[in-house]
Amino acid sequence: MIISNYFNKNDNDTNNKLISYFNDLNNGIKLKRDDFLYILDNINDEVFSVLQSLAYQKRKLIYNDSVFIRGLIEISNYCKKDCYYCGIRKSNLTAHRYRYDKNKIYEIVTYAYQRGYRTIVMQGGEDDYYTKELLEEIIGKIRNDYPDVAITLSLGEKDYDTYQALFRAGANRYLLRHESASKKHYEKLHPSFMSFDNRMQCLNDLKKIGYQTGAGLMVGSPFQTNDDLVEDLLFLQEFQPQMIGIGPYLRHHATPFKDMSNGKLEHVLVMYALARLIVPHALLPSTTATSSLDKTGRLKALLSGCNVIMINLSDIDKRKSYTLYENKSYQGDESDEFIELIKKDIEQANMKIDFSIGNYRK
Ligand code: SAH
Ligand code: SF4
Repeated sequence: MIISNYFNKNDNDTNNKLISYFNDLNNGIKLKRDDFLYILDNINDEVFSVLQSLAYQKRKLIYNDSVFIRGLIEISNYCKKDCYYCGIRKSNLTAHRYRYDKNKIYEIVTYAYQRGYRTIVMQGGEDDYYTKELLEEIIGKIRNDYPDVAITLSLGEKDYDTYQALFRAGANRYLLRHESASKKHYEKLHPSFMSFDNRMQCLNDLKKIGYQTGAGLMVGSPFQTNDDLVEDLLFLQEFQPQMIGIGPYLRHHATPFKDMSNGKLEHVLVMYALARLIVPHALLPSTTATSSLDKTGRLKALLSGCNVIMINLSDIDKRKSYTLYENKSYQGDESDEFIELIKKDIEQANMKIDFSIGNYRK
């Protein structure tokens, strides 16, 4: 189990050493493999509060009090990939598949724009229905109709030319979690036709092309060790992504990992706070998985350095089919009541809801 010491007591020397590492990170000093491992092996709830408040202050210094709101459209749950953890993997023959055509996407984008959203995130499985040409057309029209909207894509691995064409058509940001920066661990989460090296290549391509690029990982994914998480932290430190997507691994009954336990909120929060200090300028969402795991997750994420919330704008019936994991919170996401709920957490975190474009700040 990862970060297993979390509820144990530490002696003073250990706590002091942890705090001096946190201060190093806070001062922009890079840590080494052994330092990160020391943190993960020894951090407990007592010292976490120190890390958490440094992360909170760092976020405030760079982004003030804004929590940026993004409108999420889950355009398709068809997927040709077969990640062992994911409920919409191609081998799940029980999944009820759907996809949105371009007109449906325009309709939701228009609705989103009228409601004040200035970032649209189009996410989906790897679905070849959306050819390069079709995506260019969709992105081009949104760019033309709504020049002041950021278009974020999260559509998996594509070749350099396609990424470039979509960028030229008007996409600005791309979310592609690296899932695990340890090749050995990555290969335990994916079948052999999926490639760690290609995933990393894609991230490099996206950054080179000029996208605000998002990497990220699941915390508590099957077989993950602290050594694996250290690889993730080193990767984030090196790659300096503009966005970082982190959430707990959550099980889904129709996957090979159906009997594996869920990630733990405390561990996710540790990773949020470390990510904030390692990549101070990152846009760091409090993810749906974190809210699904625990109803206090959203607020605690905001207190640990997060500054983005995505709101699901897909139709309710489709939302139910886009189940990457069980117990996903999906009901009434777009409703005024849900916004009120989010606002409460935001206020409690002493932050402010912000519908503006919320670009990465250098
Ligand atoms: N197909 C694209 C985008 C959709 S999946 C892609 O894979 O990049 C978006 C993210 O959902 C994945 O990166 C993965 O980290 C997360 N995810 C998938 N299954 C999950 C599960 N069981 N628990 C938590 N997160 C999961
Ligand atoms: Fe497909 Fe993404 Fe799920 Fe993997 S995580 S099976 S690529 S939707």
